[in-house]
Amino acid sequence: MATDYYAVLGVQRDASQDEIKKAFRRLARELHPDVNPDPKTQERFKEINTAYEVLSDPQKKQMYDLGGDPMGGAGRGGGFGGGFGNFSDIMDAFFGAASQRGPRSRTRRGQDAMIRLDIELDEAAFGTTKDIQVDTAVVCTTCSGEGAAPGTSAQTCDMCRGRGEVSQVTRSFLGQVMTSRPCPQCQGFGTVVPTPCPECAGDGRVRSRRNLTVKIPAGVDNGTRIQLAGEGEVGPGGGPAGDLYVEIHEVPHPVFQRRGDDLHCTVTIPMTAAALGTKVPLETLDGMEEVDIRPGTQSGQSIPLHQRGVTHLRGGGRGDLIVHVEVQTPSKLDPEQEELLRRLAKLRGEERPTGQFQPGQQGLFSRLKDAFNGR
Ligand SMILES: [Zn+2]
Ligand SMILES: [Zn+2]
Repeated sequence: MATDYYAVLGVQRDASQDEIKKAFRRLARELHPDVNPDPKTQERFKEINTAYEVLSDPQKKQMYDLGGDPMGGAGRGGGFGGGFGNFSDIMDAFFGAASQRGPRSRTRRGQDAMIRLDIELDEAAFGTTKDIQVDTAVVCTTCSGEGAAPGTSAQTCDMCRGRGEVSQVTRSFLGQVMTSRPCPQCQGFGTVVPTPCPECAGDGRVRSRRNLTVKIPAGVDNGTRIQLAGEGEVGPGGGPAGDLYVEIHEVPHPVFQRRGDDLHCTVTIPMTAAALGTKVPLETLDGMEEVDIRPGTQSGQSIPLHQRGVTHLRGGGRGDLIVHVEVQTPSKLDPEQEELLRRLAKLRGEERPTGQFQPGQQGLFSRLKDAFNGR
C-alpha cells in the first residue's frame, strides 16, 4: 500500500489547492532540516515534499486520486488496478506520446520579411550591390530576449508546476476520460514573467531600423526574390530570426524593353537611309555603339547585336540586343524633292507599280518570323 499523501499533509481528501499549500507550508516550516536536523524529522520532511509534489500538481493529483502513484510506487488497488508501474506509464497508456509534450517554449522562430527594391536595367544586367534599410523586430537588448525586467527572471508557474498544461478527469458513459489543456495561468509556457521588461513589454524583441548591403546578382528580373537568411523578424522571446526576401522591381528603361534576357528597341530611319544604308549611333548598356543599317533594309526588319542583352542569371553568357527597324516614308515633299523622286521612279520603272499581293499582313508575318529566328 502506497503512502496516503493526504494523511501525510494532514488534509481532507477534498481539500482545495489552497488548503494543501497552507498545510505544506506549515509542516515545511516545522520540519525543515535547518530547524530540526534530527534524521527522523528529515525523513518526514521528505515525505511531505513528495506528498506536496503530487497533490499540488493537478495532473499528478488526479492520477493519484484514480489509484495510480505518480511517484513511482505501485497503485493503491483501485482505479487502474495497480497494473501500471508509474505515472508516465499510465499517461502513455492513455495518450501515447502526448505525455511527452511538456511546456511550450517562449522562444519561437520569427517570420520572414519582404522588401521591394527598385533597380535600373543596367544593374539587373550586370549585377550590383545596394544599401537597403529594413525595419524588423530585433532582440531586445534590455532583457536579451528573456522578456523579464532587468534583475528579475521568469518563474515556474505554480498552477501547472512548470508543466504547461493542466489535466481534468471527466466521467462519461465510456468511463473516466482525462483531458489536458494548456495551463490558463501561464498560457502553456510553464513559466510566468512577474515583471515584464519595460522596453519590450515582455515580448523579448523590439522594432528597429537597420542598414543592410545586398548583393544583386547579374540577371535578376522583375519579381526575382533574393533570400537573406536570418535577416527577417526575430521571433518572440528572442527566437531565431526568419529570412528576409528582397523582391526585385526593375524600373522601365526609356529605350530598351526586356523580354527574358534579350532587349528590344525600335529605330526609325528615313526611306533614303534604308535604301542607301547607314550607321546609326545607339547608347547600349555597354556604351555607345553603331548600328549598321545595310543598304536595302526593309521596314520591320531587325538587327541583332549579339551579347548586348542581360547576363543570364544561371550559366553566364548574355542575351542579345535586337534593334527593330521602322522605315519612314516622307509625307511632305517640296517641288524639288518631288521632281527627284519622280525621276527615280521613272529610272526604276516604278511609275505605275502593280504591287505584289500576298495573303495576310506582310509586316506582321516578317516580325513574327524574326522573333522565331531570333533575329
Ligand atoms: Zn526586453
Ligand atoms: Zn502554468
